[in-house]
Order: sequence, then structure tokens, then C-alpha cells
Amino acid sequence: MADHSETHVKMPNIKFTKLFINGEFVDSISGKTFETIDPRTGEVLARVAEGGKEDVDLAVKAARNAFDHGPWPRMSGAQRGRIMMKFADLVDQNVEELAALDAVDAGKLYHWGTMVDIPDSSATLRYYAGAADKIHGATLKMSREFQAYTLREPIGVVGHITPWNFPSNMFFTKVAPALAAGCTMIVKPAEQTPLSALYYAHLAKLACIPDGVINVVTGFGPTAGAAISSHMDVDKISFTGSTEVGRKIMQAAAVSNLKVVSLELGGKSPLIILDDADVDKAADLAISAGEICVAGSRVFVQEGIYDKLVKKLAEKAKDWVVGDPFDPRARYGPQVDKRQYDKILSHIESGKSEGATLLTGGKPCGNKGYYIEPTIFTEVKDHMRIAREEIFGPVMSLMKFKTTEEAIQRANSTIYGLAAGIVTKDLDTANTVSRSIRAGIIWINCYFAFDGDCPYGGYKMSGFGRDLGMEALEKYLVTKSVATPIYNSPWL
Ligand code: NAD
Repeated sequence: MADHSETHVKMPNIKFTKLFINGEFVDSISGKTFETIDPRTGEVLARVAEGGKEDVDLAVKAARNAFDHGPWPRMSGAQRGRIMMKFADLVDQNVEELAALDAVDAGKLYHWGTMVDIPDSSATLRYYAGAADKIHGATLKMSREFQAYTLREPIGVVGHITPWNFPSNMFFTKVAPALAAGCTMIVKPAEQTPLSALYYAHLAKLACIPDGVINVVTGFGPTAGAAISSHMDVDKISFTGSTEVGRKIMQAAAVSNLKVVSLELGGKSPLIILDDADVDKAADLAISAGEICVAGSRVFVQEGIYDKLVKKLAEKAKDWVVGDPFDPRARYGPQVDKRQYDKILSHIESGKSEGATLLTGGKPCGNKGYYIEPTIFTEVKDHMRIAREEIFGPVMSLMKFKTTEEAIQRANSTIYGLAAGIVTKDLDTANTVSRSIRAGIIWINCYFAFDGDCPYGGYKMSGFGRDLGMEALEKYLVTKSVATPIYNSPWL
């Protein structure tokens, strides 16, 4: 663990802690607030307005009014795109403050935030700003008597419910395509990490996004989140989070107004390393396991390279500095909260008691906050809890295999299908494995490579619907067909 006394700890000024409804920061109707915790210390960082059903009702009313009567869905795509570009510029101008907020609220690495998370967020906004004026329908010749055309219209009022692991990227992954489509929206960020979403609401206002288009209701899942997913006046829910909550959201949508649902859920993604792989490179890719939904937490290693890889990982583990998110040497920050910290430690204990071999890590570190040593288990068997359940923390499980067919079969034997990685020099094997794994994104000789242009989402119980890319824009549009008789029609 890095020595925190050497680091320059930046504390952002926390300016926004109220709900953002109809263009104003307001207290919750109940007056209740909740604590958001600094995972570096376990201490209270700020008290944030706790939105409930009545606040969601107000936010939906504002979004409905902005959709039915406001300028946003009615202005040209080019105009929406220009405003979104301005929003993106404001995000870039505040990159340090935003990265610092995610560092203290979510434990995200500050330097990673300034170099990757926040620039990627503004890039996502710009990608969809560029798409806003390219939404169009088609002209159809129905028969000799009619012609028709299709309109691509915004789906309406959207509820976005997001998790804690990438607070900034999640916000823009959801909000940017919905804005481009002309939708209005209510965002409920995770209760663990509400602060940057409120800051983005402030920047949206500065960018002149009309009141009511983006509303942010902070609060808890079973109250604020459930009120959004069961609301009769919300037309679509875009959710990212656990499979368990995704199921509840679908149920709420089914018993309310049959709103359209898209779900980005959990994963237990395999990384398959073949005998011909470069050991050094394979070790680096394997290390990318962590607090990411696509983490390569099941690392299948072919028997010919297994021992060399274990040795390499043990060497590299010495460089994995766990530390304060503001420390530029840190590669891992703290876990987001006590619940997540306890959950990861319990998985580590189960790995030990079920007979896996602990190669590195395996215990908490530091004398305060929620830090855990990056942990590698070797000799992991498919039936063990660490090989089956999503851990969502810095725990890697190495499993040995003999043939490619065996690796494919074992990699697929999970309820999830979010992502997978393959490390090999053999093109045929890479093609075979990538076509055989049932997962929404496959990385060949890389891992966690994302781009705004590349659709992303799950197979099986990792969900349905895609974020990012032009496919995500489709989620926020509906098609209307308009038919009209033509010159020789008996209807005329
Ligand atoms: P979570 O499902 O507990 O919470 C996610 C969001 O849902 C939060 O905003 C929460 O308040 C809300 N929520 C909780 N109960 C609700 C309810 N009854 N009704 C409506 N909303 C409710 O997940 P988490 O712990 O915040 O995040 C971790 C999970 O997210 C992991 O399973 C991870 O794999 C998943 N995840 C998936 C992706 C992906 O793209 N597939 C990306 C990031 C995270």
C-alpha cells in the first residue's frame, strides 16, 4: 500500500447536493438527506437530498412537460447537436474537478479520471452530438395505390438508472444518445456515487439544455429507482446494474405501463490464454480484472503456459500499488463502500476455504478506508464460488485447460454473457473462439477496449439492448409509418 503521507490529497469543493428538477436544485419534498461516504476513509463526504416517490413524480412531470411542449424534441437535430457540443466543452473545462469528485465519491483513480473517464465522457457526448442531425426515416412504396414514409421519433420520457462503478461514463453513456434522439429524462445515479451526476446537471444548464430535459433524482433503489421503473408516465428505462435488480425493473415495467426496457447487467467474463501467447502481454491483460462489469475474472490458461504465467503474475504483482486515488503511483483505489468491501473479502475467504491456492493478496490493507490487496487465486475449479459468482473487485481466478474446445465449453458455462478475451497468435483459433463464446463483446489480444462507436451489452442474463454506438441511439427512437394515397388510388 502506498504511503498516503507523501501524496497531495485534493479535496474537491462539493457544490451540488440537492435534486435537480426542472432546471433547479431543490430539496427533497420529505426534507430527507443521506450520507455519501469517502471510501478512502469511511467517513461522511457529504449529505445529499434523498429523493422519493413524490420527487420522482415532480421530475417525471417536468420531463413530460419538456417533451410534450418544450423545444428540445422540436428543434432540429443540428441545433441539439450544437448544444451538446457546448455541454461537452464544459465537461472538458471542468475535468479536474470532475475527476476529483469521482475519486472521493467512488474511489476512482484521479489520474485515470483526468486522462480517460472524463475525456471519454465528453467524447461520448460529441459522438452523439454528431449523430443528432443524421436521424431519418425511409420512403416506401407500399403499392400502386399508396406510398408511405417512416418518421424516427424520440421515444419520450426516459428513466436512466445507473451503478457506482463508472459514475461519469455511465451518466453520458445513457444521457448522450437520449439527448441526441430528442428525449427528456430522469437520471438516478447510484446512491454510493451521486455527486458527479449533480455536477453534470449544473453543466447541462450552463450549456443551455432547456429546463426539464435532464432531471437528476438522487436516492435509493427500492424508493427512487422503483418509483421511476413503475411510473406510468415514463416511456423507457435504460438500466445498468445487477441482474437481480434488472429483473425487478422488468417486473415493474410489466405491471405498470409496459414501458420499453433495456438492461446492462452483471458478468463473469472469461479471458482465455492459449499456449502460443506472449507471457508478458498475457499477464498484463489478465491484470485488468477489477471493479469493472466486464472484468476478466475467470482466466482460463492452457496447460503449456500455465506455470510460466503464474510466475510472471507473481512478479508483476509487486508493482500493483494500492493507494489513495490521488496518488499517481496507485493502480488500485479503495472499494466503493463497506458493503462491497465486505462482499469481496467474503469471496476471498470462500476461495481459501474451498481449496484454491492464494498466489498474491488476499487481505485488506491500510489502516482506514476500504482498501483490499489485488488478489490472485490459482488452481481454481469451476464449481468454486469465486469461479461462479460475480465479485466485482480485484480478484482473479486462474483455471487450467487442455484444449480450445474445453476452454470454449467452460467459458460458456455461466448464466452471464457480457464480455470475453482471447490471447493467442493464431488467427484461426481467435476467430473460432470469438464466434463460439456467447458474449456481447470479444477482445482479441486486448482487453477493456472501448469506443463510443462500438456497441456494448450482454447475452443471456447479462441483459439486452446495447449501449454506445449507433445501436444505442436506436433505443431512444421509435418508428412511425405514415401512409398516403397516390395519383391512381381509388382512395382519392
Ligand atoms: P445495483 O443493481 O445494486 O444498483 C444499480 C442501480 O439500481 C442503483 O442506482 C440502485 O439504486 C438501483 N436500484 C436498486 N434497487 C432498485 C430497484 N428495486 N428498482 C430500481 N432501481 C434499483 O448494482 P450496483 O451494485 O450499483 O452495481 C454493480 C452491478 O452493476 C454489477 O452487477 C455489475 O456487473 C453491474 N454493471 C453492469 C454493467 C454493464 O454494462 N453490463 C456496467 C456496470 C455495472
